[in-house]
This record gives sequence, structure tokens and C-alpha cells, in this order.
Amino acid sequence: MVTTPITRSAEWRERREMRSPPPRLSRLSRLSRLSCLSRLSRLSRLSCLSRLSCLLIALLSCALLPTPAPPADLYLAPADVLLYPGPPLYSGDVVTFDITPHNADQLPLADLGVRVSRLTSEGPEVIAEGPVGQPAFDHAPRARLTWAWDTTGLDGEQRLRVHLDPDDRIQEGDEDPANNVVTLTVSLRPAAARPALEAQATWVTTTTSCCVLHYLTGSPAARDLPALTAQAEQAAALVQTRLHLTATRPISLYLVSRVIGQGGYAAAAVTLSYLDRNYAGRDLRLLLPHEFTHMSDGPLANGTPSFLREGLAVWVAGGHFKPEPIPQRAAALRRLGDYVPLDQLMEDFYLHQHEAAYLESAAFVAYLVETHGWDRFLAVYGGFGEAKSLDAVLQATLGADLTAVEADFLRWLDAHPPTPAQERDVRDTIRLFDAVRRYQQAYDPGAYFMSGWFPDPVEGERRGIVADFLRRPTGAESIALEVMLLAAQEGLAAGDLPTVETHLEAVEAVLMDGRFTHPLAVRYLAVVEASAAHGYEAQRVALDDGAAHVWATASDATLVELQVGGLAQ
Ligand SMILES: [Zn+2]
Repeated sequence: MVTTPITRSAEWRERREMRSPPPRLSRLSRLSRLSCLSRLSRLSRLSCLSRLSCLLIALLSCALLPTPAPPADLYLAPADVLLYPGPPLYSGDVVTFDITPHNADQLPLADLGVRVSRLTSEGPEVIAEGPVGQPAFDHAPRARLTWAWDTTGLDGEQRLRVHLDPDDRIQEGDEDPANNVVTLTVSLRPAAARPALEAQATWVTTTTSCCVLHYLTGSPAARDLPALTAQAEQAAALVQTRLHLTATRPISLYLVSRVIGQGGYAAAAVTLSYLDRNYAGRDLRLLLPHEFTHMSDGPLANGTPSFLREGLAVWVAGGHFKPEPIPQRAAALRRLGDYVPLDQLMEDFYLHQHEAAYLESAAFVAYLVETHGWDRFLAVYGGFGEAKSLDAVLQATLGADLTAVEADFLRWLDAHPPTPAQERDVRDTIRLFDAVRRYQQAYDPGAYFMSGWFPDPVEGERRGIVADFLRRPTGAESIALEVMLLAAQEGLAAGDLPTVETHLEAVEAVLMDGRFTHPLAVRYLAVVEASAAHGYEAQRVALDDGAAHVWATASDATLVELQVGGLAQ
């Protein structure tokens, strides 16, 4: 991915991390049901003719309860403010705010700002302010105040006031300025309570012939450094060979200990998630060349759209998530009804179903190279200049318009029919990554690529910030979901689709209502809790009848193997 956020309060997120997430209801419907349920319990205590009539009255009253209408003008609710890193937050964290107002789409964003103040006994103290822009792939109006509040020296509960349009510059569309202000209580744990591994982590670098690797001391990347440097060298060589380019400068590669987005992103440097419980499951043999392609294709590109840049990266790597026959798998998209016409795919590439979009774009690159040759492909790739359309570029370079080229592309796909197993694999791939993203939305919204935050590791390293690159959900339920997703990823890599589907059923059941009632999910949760009871954090779990084999860590990145027995079948 080349980088160019449902929001809730950190306190709410922390509560959810401690307990189970709520059902996937909108906030208003949740409130409405809560009031309904409390009324139901009150009614059940009244003397009614019968318990049944009570229930009927209560249900009727629930059905008739009017849903309060949200404000129609610009407004902010507490749940619209997210704080990173975490939760939890520790004293000394440098906090980033994500503030996503309602009803701002039609407003002049240049005039819209936010101000965050800490409420102290001496009065409000401004701790952060900035403009509302569109910093994420979802294009939602949002103020992202990056590394804005240094909490060093503060401890315990902090009262914050977030003020949208604090100088009242917006009039039309903001008829009620009073609903632009929210107050939050943020809890800062003592600095000394920070986990030892995080407290001791610092950025270090290793330089190889291709790359400068940046990683955190004590991390899995530090543990596996020799293998990682070798893989980086191989990936750089592959990219140079496939792009017919010679590297002119080393690539900066940051290896971080949490999943962000789909596990990798590239801007001024490449950032890869490298951790044992990598539920995004990305194979470094593909992920490294993918992101290195983004860092290397500059001499070939000229206004090139994301659609082709991502397609080239997948094509160079030989697949998106695993080595894959790109034409056959893209042809499977047609059979599954997931093919998107090319002109639509060009528009807002990142808003389309992620896996399908990447696969189709890779197939289009493969088609151009195979059918028209490398030089003509390069002419297309570098032919966009100032916002030229795909149709115009194809006419200028291939002498055929988009309609004709796409028809030929579809014939080429039809000439590569997928096997039933390939079709099922593509369907399961899409289903698995959709589940990964639903997990992120519910349990780790900062990691969700569409609305979350891709922190700049270069700036993070410069400022000595590590928390945003390693802190991640560690509640038992999060870990259980992550190890189930990881098991599904391993099944996908091995072509073991029944394992993928069995685990996805369990994950989807939990994500549906936030409850661990699916038998497989119950077993995974029991294993994670049993490991935690002995001081271990489960990183990978293999269930086997009534027992489990667990790869876990304790105080450092050393993996130990555990056996957990006595599980219900
Ligand atoms: Zn990419």
C-alpha cells in the first residue's frame, strides 16, 4: 500500500478491550435498546395480569419508542474522539488525537478547526489544536493531531475538552454551536506500569547493501535480524530484476511490532508489521518486494494512478498474500461477481474491496506486459502526466480505447480459467481479510486502514517514540481472535481451506455479537486465558482434540512452547 478512521473514546475502547465488544449496532440503536431493556426490567416488577402480558406491553413499548434524531448541523460526540497509542495510555505517552465530526462533509474545511484543552484547577490549558482535513482513505472530514500532547509529568485521570470550530467561523451548517463541545476523562497509568519490554525499547538500525533496517530493541525483528536482512536483500534484487532498474540509494525499512493496516505501507520509508501474532499473515517473501516496488518505481511513474502502482507491486512480488497464479485468480473474481470495470477501479481505488482490487489490478499489469510487451507497459505506466484518463493513455500508447482494451483483457482472463479450488481460495481470501478488518474496526480502530493512522516511523524514530509502533490489544479476547485469524491465515497459506473456513466461522460469530459462544472460539479463549494465568502471552495456538500446543512469550521476544490440556472437545 502506498500511503498519501467509527470513532469512540479511548475510555470506551479500553472498557471494551477489558470486556467483550458490544453488538454491532449504531450508537443510537444501542441507546434505544438499553433504555428499552431497563424499561423491560422495571415493567417486569409491576403487578400485571400475567408475566406474558407484561412482556407484551414492554415489547410493544420498545417497538413504539421513537429513536431520537441526531443533530442535523455540525456536531461532535465523545465517541468521535480517539486517542493513540493504546489503550491503555501511560504517563509519558505522546498522544495523537483523531477527531471525526458529524455533518462536516459539505462545509468549507479550510475554515474548520479543533482545539483540545486539559481542564485544570487553574482553568483550561490548550494542549493541541489543528485543522480538519481528510487524512485517511475514507476521505471523512477529520482532525488528526499527530503526536500533539506530551503527557510526561501527568498521572491519573485527566479531563479534556474538545472544541470543534472553537472560534465559531462556521455559521451555515452549524446552527447549534453548543453541540460542538465534548468533555472526556482520560486515564493515564503510571509510567512505571509500562510493560518492561516497551519501557526498554529503543530504535536501532542495521545497514546492508540494499537497505537500512530500523527496528526496536527486544522486538521479534531484533530476534530474527539475520533472516530479515537476508530476505530484504533477496527482495531488493528481485525488484531490480523485474523492473529492469538499478538501485540508486538504500531503502529505509522499518519493522514494527504491531499490525497496522494490512501489514505494510510505504511513504518516505517502508514500514512492515513484524510480530509473531501477525493476524494479517503477510508473507515477507511477497510483502518485501511489494513495498520495495513502491520505493523503486519512481523513475517509471508519472502521475501513475494507485490502481497501476499497486498492480505492479503485486505483479512484481508474484502475488498479494502468497505466491499465486494471478490470471487464474483474477478470472475467479469474474465468476464470483467481484470484478470491477477498470474505469471504476481507477476511481477511489482504495475504496473498493481490497483483495479483489489488488488482484484485478495485478492481472491488468500482467495482461499488459504479456500481451503488449514491457516497453508498451512502461509507456502506459508513465503516460498519465497531468491527470490524463486511462482511456486517453491507452489510446496514446496502445492505439486502442479503454472499451477495446478492457474487452481484450476480459478475453485474456477467460483464457485462464480457474480451478474450483482456486475460486474457493479467492473467496476465502476475501472473506478472511474482511474479517481481519472487522476485527480491527471493533478492537483496534487505529489499525484499520480505511480510517486509522499510519504513523510516520521516520518522525517517530527522530522523536524517540516507540509506543505507536508496538502497543496493541492484549486483552484475552483480542488475543483469542488474533490467534484464530492467524490459524486461518496459516490454513490459507497451506491451501487448507476447510481450516480457513472453520476458523472464520468462529471469528465471524464473535464479531457478530461480541460474545464468545462459538465452541471453537470458547476453546481458543480458554487456551489464551490458561497461558495468561501462567504469565504467558499466546502468540500462536494449534488445537488438537482436547489439548493445545501454544507458542507464547513472557518477558521478552523469546518464544516458548507450552501444552494446554483439559479443553472441552
Ligand atoms: Zn501497496
